[in-house]
Amino acid sequence: MTSYKLPELSYDYSALEPSISARIMELHHSKHHAAYVAGANGAIEQLAEAREKGDFTNINKLQKDLAFHLSGHINHSIFWKNLAPTNSDRPEGELAAAIIEFFGSFEAFQAHFNATAMGIQGSGWAFLAWDSMGERLIVEQLYDQQSNIATASVPLLMLDMWEHAFYLDYQNVKADYVKAFWSIVNWSDVQARFHDAGTKTKGLLLG
Ligand code: MN
Repeated sequence: MTSYKLPELSYDYSALEPSISARIMELHHSKHHAAYVAGANGAIEQLAEAREKGDFTNINKLQKDLAFHLSGHINHSIFWKNLAPTNSDRPEGELAAAIIEFFGSFEAFQAHFNATAMGIQGSGWAFLAWDSMGERLIVEQLYDQQSNIATASVPLLMLDMWEHAFYLDYQNVKADYVKAFWSIVNWSDVQARFHDAGTKTKGLLLG
């Protein structure tokens, strides 16, 4: 049986300084993300065990564990790729055009995204997604690792708003963390995800 694995980062832990410190990156990747990977593998194993025994007493707990940990693994895997030490200020080409089409302007999109991130009550994520039902871009406000989002939307650009993502660097000043995020966005990664989502999910839900 295949299992989930912690992905290597394509840059050093210190590469995103001063926006995100090496200490946060190290803890976030090697401890937090690693725990989600272990949790996802654990949930898969326990579900297999439950099927073998025909004992589904803990099914609700196991399904929630799977949703939480697997989503945590997915979210962080995307987040690391969304970031890069140097970036081009804002998107170009077809992604830039789509952002204007669906949000009015890049500034309006950014304001919407920032408000979504800042408004999270507790732990969660803000992200730009491709909605494969409406074939459009949307912003989503994700609670914990898995709640409050549309099924089958494809995350393109994710921002981790859990305290573990910023507290050592920014304490309670979330706005500075969100502002710093925009200077380390890997727009070519977001553009590639947008292109793939638009082409590969076409007709996926409605045939
Ligand atoms: Mn995190």
